[in-house]
Amino acid sequence: MIQLSFLGAIATVGASGILIDTGTEKIVLDYGTKIRETPPLFPIPVQGKVDAVILSHTHLDHSGGVPIFFAKGGTVPIFSMSVTRPLTELLLLDSIKISREEGVELPFSKADVKAAIKNFSLVSYRKPFKIHKTEATAFDAGHIPGSMMPFLDFGKKTLLYTGDLNTRPTRLLKKADDNIHETDVLITESTYSERDHPDRKEQEKQLVQIIDDTLAVDGICFIAGFAVGRIDEILLTLDAHGIDYPVYVDGMAKKAITIINQHKNLLKVSDSLDRALKKVEYVASERMRKRIVKNPGVILSTSGMLTGGPIVNYIRNFFGNERCSLVLTSFQLEDTPGKKLLETGRFVYKDCDLDMKMMVKRLDFSSHCGRKELFEFVKKINPQKVFCIHGDHTEEFAEELRQQGFDSTAPIANNRIFSI
Ligand SMILES: [Zn+2]
Ligand SMILES: [Zn+2]
Repeated sequence: MIQLSFLGAIATVGASGILIDTGTEKIVLDYGTKIRETPPLFPIPVQGKVDAVILSHTHLDHSGGVPIFFAKGGTVPIFSMSVTRPLTELLLLDSIKISREEGVELPFSKADVKAAIKNFSLVSYRKPFKIHKTEATAFDAGHIPGSMMPFLDFGKKTLLYTGDLNTRPTRLLKKADDNIHETDVLITESTYSERDHPDRKEQEKQLVQIIDDTLAVDGICFIAGFAVGRIDEILLTLDAHGIDYPVYVDGMAKKAITIINQHKNLLKVSDSLDRALKKVEYVASERMRKRIVKNPGVILSTSGMLTGGPIVNYIRNFFGNERCSLVLTSFQLEDTPGKKLLETGRFVYKDCDLDMKMMVKRLDFSSHCGRKELFEFVKKINPQKVFCIHGDHTEEFAEELRQQGFDSTAPIANNRIFSI
């Protein structure tokens, strides 16, 4: 009998974590945090020794709690794709910095992050690796560079965990690998189980139009996006539509792009970023920041939900400028300045509350499956049992899957441990 314990991302997005106890080994899939909670929320603690952590991808809602396994002198091997290691180091150290600034104590130190990074064991897509008796294989999840779906073969049963999934190709990445071995148990994300994404080409057209309109009146178009994957995707989009204006990248995306571009084999077109970056300048200093805003252009920056990073200062300086525009290209979580801005037209951040005169628009450049693709993926995998997590409407998703003949369950707080 194999026991599955859902430790987080239960009927919500954030703090993903799953414990699998096979009787001979304990394997943890992801161990993230719920950002924007104060204090930050982590998955339910794991009792006893863990044999391995498999990290599906670097995003903090999947990786943000991994150093907890190294606090108080603990250790565990962490299996991930190669690019996930440096990206996770970048994001974890940044999460410590932000927490300190906000006066929040995390349950791990910089030293614990360093210890975690030293214990990464790198895997490749479709090359099986062993965790004692369990054989594991990473399949491309198509979500961000290095995102993978762990497939576990316990001998009598097999299990696939989607992590975060995108079955549509983007400019940056190939679509998820759906040529997967027979799967008994599927654990699927459900982020967009309720709605389909708008047509991507249409979103691209709108982005290009906003840039054209802004530059036509000598304004600056600010584009906010996630550091890992999103700013890259926007750069490739701009490049595909022809860049004949100044483009700058500011904030943590610079480091993330550099890391991602060192793993070209993970990109759909290996030299795509090289080509786009030829037309782009990185913002290297405060002086440069002051200089580039004197002329029309496009500035891409973090953070995606306007919770910090250089984008906040750009907004503070240009919120009243009607010739400028701000495009949000990332998902906006509840209670973030980005979400509030879209709802109220005001930018509320720490000590400031600004009435935005600059044009604000959110465009959908999501790197998750939409509703249609999620159903198609479950059908394609055709498992005996489905668990729905990582979404605000997991129970509704599970119910719809049941109506289509699948044995599906959405774990809830007091029903989160299952035998398979
Ligand atoms: Zn993700
Ligand atoms: Zn996620």
